[in-house]
Amino acid sequence: MRVELVTVGDELLLGDTVNGNAAWIGQRLAEHGLEVTRSVVVGDELGAIIGAVTEALGRADAVITTGGLGPTYDDLTRDALAAAAGVELVRDPALERRLRERVAAAGRELQPMALRMADVPEGAGVLGNSAGSAAGLRVELAGGVVYALPGVPFEMRTMIDEVVLPELAGETRVARLTLRTAGLWESVVATGLAPVEAMDGIRLAYLPDPAEVKIRITASGPDAPRRLEEAERACRELLGDAVYGAGDQTLDRVIHRLLGERSATVATAESLTGGLIGAELTRMPGSSATYAGGMVAYATALKEELLGVPGQVLKEHGAVHPDVARAMAAGVRERVGATYGVAVTGVAGPEPQDGRPVGTIFVGVAGPEGEPKVIRPLLPVPGTGAEIRGVIRRMTVVH
Ligand code: ATP
Ligand code: MG
Repeated sequence: MRVELVTVGDELLLGDTVNGNAAWIGQRLAEHGLEVTRSVVVGDELGAIIGAVTEALGRADAVITTGGLGPTYDDLTRDALAAAAGVELVRDPALERRLRERVAAAGRELQPMALRMADVPEGAGVLGNSAGSAAGLRVELAGGVVYALPGVPFEMRTMIDEVVLPELAGETRVARLTLRTAGLWESVVATGLAPVEAMDGIRLAYLPDPAEVKIRITASGPDAPRRLEEAERACRELLGDAVYGAGDQTLDRVIHRLLGERSATVATAESLTGGLIGAELTRMPGSSATYAGGMVAYATALKEELLGVPGQVLKEHGAVHPDVARAMAAGVRERVGATYGVAVTGVAGPEPQDGRPVGTIFVGVAGPEGEPKVIRPLLPVPGTGAEIRGVIRRMTVVH
């Protein structure tokens, strides 16, 4: 099903009005598995509207127009449709009655010009407008169907939802899901998911944040829910544990849940992030059940004083080193009394530090068993909260 859009109005060409109708319709149709394949803007000019609608019908199955249905002589959409269909405009008695009633109810007198709004191309369907006075039109032409809707955004939206979508998208079902990944670049995610992109009736959209990429999966077709399930399973298989959640399961929530399931707590020792990880882990009400507390040891000397990192290690390697991350993690775990200690040290930039390039980050994790581990995240851009979050999640899942 190909749908084209013709938005009508000098004000759109002049830039006095932003073409919000086109944006809204594009989104709305996409949500229902329909595609706007082309969108054009024309001014309030009879020939231009006829031309645009006729051309669009040459390519598409359905054309939606907005604007130009009002009472004034520059509202020419109904005239254009009558001309395109090769029929006359005829006055619709029911529409005329409704117009007269509305005007009377408002205590005003009907302007003869307003009666234009009761005129419809012969044989056209009238789309009721519960939201306003201008009715919409449904005109069947040789190439397909034209829906002519008012320009007023609120009225137009009502008709799209009440008339156009039920008619055009009635058969098409759509199911949608968002998966959340951390620690991978958008291009890596997209390359990895090529097999899913190729699946029938599946579309993927990538919504990147620093170090977090959300994948919106849209399945369409009569068996959309089943297709969505298959696509989700394929994504999870292809991306492994980079997928940490779905929908509104944000990283902090997932970490909270995973720790809660193990009756475990975590403590943080932060250097370059200055407390951002702690802030993230305390965002949620009830986080005290899984987040014990943390320390920000920014100055090198504090890493020794607060966290017990051996002075010798700091002297030998500087503050950005795997051994430092390990010792910080073990130190904060012990001092706070948490199940896990997580520590980060690195070079946030803009200048290198101790001979280490910007973006060098070491994450230490200390748990109840075994030696503290170090994970060096593969993120070339240094320490904003969001990136570190990606890392933390990996830690927690790893344990
Ligand atoms: P009415 O019966 O209200 O006159 P109409 O079909 O004649 O409806 P227009 O006169 O073209 O519609 O536009 C009415 C209002 O809707 C204007 O204020 C205009 O700014 C707004 N509008 C029209 N087209 C668009 C559009 N494409 N995007 C956003 N707003 C629009
Ligand atoms: Mg108007």
